[in-house]
Formats: sequence, C-alpha cells, structure tokens
Amino acid sequence: MRIVACLKQVPEDARFDRASNTVVREERKQMLNPADSYALALALAIKDRLGAEVTALTMGKPFAAKMLPAAAALGADRLFCVSDPAFGGSDTFATASILSRAIRHIGGADLVLCGRRAIDGETGQVGPELAVMLDMPCLTNVARLESVSEARIECGRLLEDRWEIHSAGFPCLLTCCDGVEGIAYPRMGSIATMRRALEIPVTTLSLHDLSGDFEGNLDDGSGDAFVFGRQGSPTRVRKTAVHEEQPRAGVLLTSPESGAAAIAEAVRLVLEEQAP
Ligand code: FAD
Repeated sequence: MRIVACLKQVPEDARFDRASNTVVREERKQMLNPADSYALALALAIKDRLGAEVTALTMGKPFAAKMLPAAAALGADRLFCVSDPAFGGSDTFATASILSRAIRHIGGADLVLCGRRAIDGETGQVGPELAVMLDMPCLTNVARLESVSEARIECGRLLEDRWEIHSAGFPCLLTCCDGVEGIAYPRMGSIATMRRALEIPVTTLSLHDLSGDFEGNLDDGSGDAFVFGRQGSPTRVRKTAVHEEQPRAGVLLTSPESGAAAIAEAVRLVLEEQAP
C-alpha cells in the first residue's frame, strides 16, 4: 500500500504581513502542524499493521524540507518537499492543485492522509479539494481508527455531538483531527531506523518537475488545469485584523464570607432586574 501523508509547516506564533495579507514565515519559528503529526502517526500505524510505503510530502519555502528527516526517523520511507517561488501566495485551491500534481508525479497513492486543518490558514479546505482533484472519496474529521485491511479502512469521525463510523475502499483520502484513537503515537525508531533515516534523501520538486512530465503544457491528462501561485489562486485575503480581547474587570474575593456576600448581592441584583 502506498500512503502519502501531507505535512504542513506552520509558524509557532502567527504574524501577518499587513501589506500582502500573508503569514510571515521565518525559518527559526516553525513547527509541524499538530493535526498533521496524527496524519503521519496514522500512516505509520497502518504501515506497522499491513506493511506500506509511507511518503511524507510538504509544500512550502525551501526550509520546510528541514522537518522531513524527523518523519523519516519515525518511519517514513520517502521525503518530498514541493518548493518553487512560483508557488508563493497560493490559496487553498492552488495548494491542492500543486499537491495533487506532486502526488501524481511521485507515483500516486492508495491512501492520502491530511490534517483536518492547519493552524495558520485554518480553512480545512485543502484535504477535501485534494480528494476531488485526485478523484478519491474523502472522510473528514477522522479521530479513531476502527480497522484497516488491504481492501478497506474503517474510521470514526468525530462530530460536535456524536461519532460516526465510516468505511471506505482504497484509494481514499482522510483528514485527521488533533488526536486519533486506536493507534500508538510513533516513538523515535530503533538505531537501525535512525541510520536508515539518515540515508533517505529529501527530494525537492519544482514547478519544472511538476510541469515537465507533461511537456510543459501543464496538462497531466486529468482534465484539471494546473493552477498555482497568487496568479492562479481564485481567492484573495483582502484584509486581516487582530482580534483584541477586552480585559474584564475582575473582583478579588479574599475570604469565604466576602465571597458569599458578593455572590448573594450579585444574585439579588439579577433577581431585582428580572422582577416584573
Ligand atoms: P488547511 O486546508 O487548513 O490544511 C488542511 C491540511 O491540508 C493540513 O493539515 C495538511 O495536511 C494539508 N496541507 C495544507 N497545506 C499544505 C502544505 N503546504 N503542504 C502539505 N500539506 C498541506 N486561502 C483560501 O483559499 N481561502 C481563504 O479564505 C483563505 N484565508 C486565509 C486567511 C489568512 C489569514 C491566511 C494567512 C491565509 C489564507 N488562505 C486562504 C491561504 C491559505 O492559508 C493557504 O492556501 C494555505 O497554504 C492552505 O490553506 P490552510 O492553511 O487553510 O490549510
């Protein structure tokens, strides 16, 4: 089974460039998007049970590649970073278009695993868009692995007030919550795994690589146009604003007596207000 885990590098503290309305991405303050670590954990759990080739795929600035060896140390077999100045400013549609081309370029997948949402953009659109572009069924909000075989995967979807159990055949795409039950969170591998990880190269894919397959005409036969970068993005972030919390005046109650009296007075005032 070929599994691709889509891993996004996100800023530890979100700051915006007000001129371009984009997230400021500095190399020193980046981390793996939390939900994506569970996408990777799920991929590795399936590899443990069935045997699978796990590919870690990211798109971002060249320094995004630096987080990939950690995925190899946990057990990923192949590492790809899609990076090209032409991809800068991509919205979710363009991001999904680029990732779908990359997945086709590296040989396709039986199972694609994404996070439910990235903590910087927070749209949660990339996974479902990617599923459409790869022509795969999509299960979102996966928070529990029920069972998996060579033919099917059964998962629990966590909704606001209930669980839903779904099953899908392969190929399919799942988006994972910040936590997936039924799997062990991967620990650093054995010395042998770590040695092997050091030998796994990070392959960078550029616009040229993703379009070169198709004689430069950007058509891979899927019928979808290849869109990327700001020019190819149908949406624009017009404005960003920081939500300022208004601090509420607190009341310090220093003894049970004064606390009880203050609460009794508050209740009396509410009852008085409500009295006809
Ligand atoms: P999500 O859709 O939340 O990501 C879900 C999952 O997809 C991730 O967990 C990961 O598994 C995978 N994934 C996503 N990006 C990557 C990647 N680069 N590499 C590997 N895997 C990945 N774009 C819009 O189209 N509409 C908007 O309304 C919009 N609003 C934005 C608002 C702000 C303030 C900012 C800064 C950006 C906004 N964008 C918007 C742009 C959007 O953030 C980017 O397109 C981003 O790269 C992908 O969207 P996301 O972060 O919301 O990802």
